[in-house]
Amino acid sequence: MRVLIVGAGIAGPTLAYWLQRFGHEPTLLERSAHPRRGGYVIDFWGAGFDVADRMGIVPTLMERGYRVREVREVSATGRRVAHFDPRIALDAVSGRYVSIARSDLAATILEAVETDIEVIFGDTVQSMHGDGDRVQVQFAGGAEHEFDVVVGADGLHSQVRELTFGPEGQFERQLGISVAAFEVNGYRPRNELTAITHTVVGAEVLRFSIRDDATMFSMIFRHDANAPTGDAEAQRQLLRTRLRGLGWEVPQILESLDDATSFYFDSASQILMPSWHQGRVALVGDAAACPSLLSGQGSALAMVEAYILATELHDAGGDHRRAFPAYHRRLASLARAKQDAAIRLGAAFTPRNRAQLLIRNSVLGLMGIPLVARIAMGRSLRDPIQLPPTPAH
Ligand SMILES: Cc1cc2nc3c(=O)[nH]c(=O)nc-3n(C[C@H](O)[C@H](O)[C@H](O)COP(=O)(O)OP(=O)(O)OC[C@H]3O[C@@H](n4cnc5c(N)ncnc54)[C@H](O)[C@@H]3O)c2cc1C
Repeated sequence: MRVLIVGAGIAGPTLAYWLQRFGHEPTLLERSAHPRRGGYVIDFWGAGFDVADRMGIVPTLMERGYRVREVREVSATGRRVAHFDPRIALDAVSGRYVSIARSDLAATILEAVETDIEVIFGDTVQSMHGDGDRVQVQFAGGAEHEFDVVVGADGLHSQVRELTFGPEGQFERQLGISVAAFEVNGYRPRNELTAITHTVVGAEVLRFSIRDDATMFSMIFRHDANAPTGDAEAQRQLLRTRLRGLGWEVPQILESLDDATSFYFDSASQILMPSWHQGRVALVGDAAACPSLLSGQGSALAMVEAYILATELHDAGGDHRRAFPAYHRRLASLARAKQDAAIRLGAAFTPRNRAQLLIRNSVLGLMGIPLVARIAMGRSLRDPIQLPPTPAH
C-alpha cells in the first residue's frame, strides 16, 4: 500500500517505521522545513516505551535522556519546600523509564526510518478527494499524488482532521491553561539532574538543566481568554505580563526569553472524537485523541496508536475497512483514560486556590518518603494495555 502520513512529529515517523517494516510504502509529509526542535522533557515509560523497545531505539533514548535525581518545589525565596527522588519509579517499572527532551525522542524515531522512506519537508496537504479506490491528494506546493490511504499525524491542530471531519472547535476541549517551553544557553544557576518548580495559585514555572550548558524551562498557567496563536512575540509578551509577579528566579527567567534558542507555546486542549477514521483517511496521535500537554503522555500514547494502527492494517491484509475500526476500538478507552488523568493533573500544575496549592505541596512532601513514593508511582506508572505481538512479515 502507498500510505501518505501527514506530520513528522512522534506519531508519524513511528507509523512510517512499522508500515515500512510490514512491507508497505509510506511517505512522510511535514509542513516545517526541517524536523521541529523545542518542547519540554517528557517522562517516557509504559506501552510507549515497549513500542520504542521493539523499534530497537531504547539504547539511544537512554543515552540521550536523563535519570532525574530530584524533583524539588521551591518557595518565592528559593527555599526548598518539598522534594523527592523519582528514581524510586525505576524500581516500579524495572528500569523501563527515561526522561527525555521531546525533540530528542522525535529525532531518534525519525533517524530510525528516514533513510528507508520518502520524507518531504516544507509542504502540506491542500485538498484530498477519495474516488472509492484511492485518495487524490493535492499538496500546497502544487504536486498531485495518489495514495491508498492517508493518515493525519499532524498534531493537535490537524489539517487532515479539518479537511476530513470539519473544524477543530467541534472536537476540542479547552482546559483554560496554556503551556510554554523554551531553551536558553548558559543560564545560571544550574542544578544537574534536578527538576525545580515554583508553583503558585494558577501557575507553575519549571527549570531543568540539560547537556551542553543549556537549560529548559516550562511555564504553565491558567487564563480564561484565548491565547494568541502563531505570533511568538505576542505569546512571549503574554508570559511576561501574566507571570512577572512571581518570585524565585521567575523575573530572570522571563528576561532570558529574548535569548531562547527554541520556543514552543500552545494551549492545553484535548481532542475528543466519536471516530478516528472516515473512508480511506485515519488519524493518529494528537490529531485523533490529544490528551493535552498536561498529561505528559501524549508522545507515548501517540507511539502506541501508531503501532496498533500499523499492526491492524497488517492483520487485515491492508483492508482499511476492517483495520481502521479495529484500531479505534482497541484504543478508545486507553486514550479516554489518559485524557481523564490529564484533567486531574491540571490542579497539580496550576492549583485553583490556596487549599489546592497546600494539598499539592503536601503530596509532594509525602513523596519524599520512599515507601509512599514507591506505592504512588508504582500505581500511576501502569498502562492498562498489553501490546499485541509484532507480526512477522
Ligand atoms: C515543537 C513541538 C514541541 C512540543 N512540546 C511539547 C512539550 O513540551 N510537552 C508536551 O507534552 N508535548 C509537546 N508537544 C506535543 C507532543 O509532541 C505531542 O503531544 C505528542 O508527541 C503527540 O505527537 P504527534 O506526533 O501526534 O504530534 P506532534 O508531536 O505535535 O507532531 C505533529 C507534527 O505535524 C506537523 N504538522 C502540523 N500541521 C501540519 C500540516 N498541516 N502538514 C504537515 N505537517 C504538519 C508538525 O510540524 C509536527 O511536526 C510538542 C509538539 C511540537 C511539534
